[in-house]
Amino acid sequence: MKCFYCKGETKETTTKFIVDLGRYVVVVKNVPARVCQQCGEASYSNEVAQQLEKIVEAVKHSIMSEVAIVEYSRDVA
Ligand SMILES: [Zn+2]
Repeated sequence: MKCFYCKGETKETTTKFIVDLGRYVVVVKNVPARVCQQCGEASYSNEVAQQLEKIVEAVKHSIMSEVAIVEYSRDVA
């Protein structure tokens, strides 16, 4: 699979997903993604993208500090 942006080679790996919610920053670690070897752009599968939304939503309700760091998990409902 080629990079959507620069047509570089992508590699299956894990990456950090960082979302800035204004008052809080949520960092999700070990997210499965394809990362471009040329520009560093990460792309997520639909399944992973949906799961990330759920994780961020869950973290928002239990956030205790300005920065929340969580592991990627398929089990968040
Ligand atoms: Zn690229």
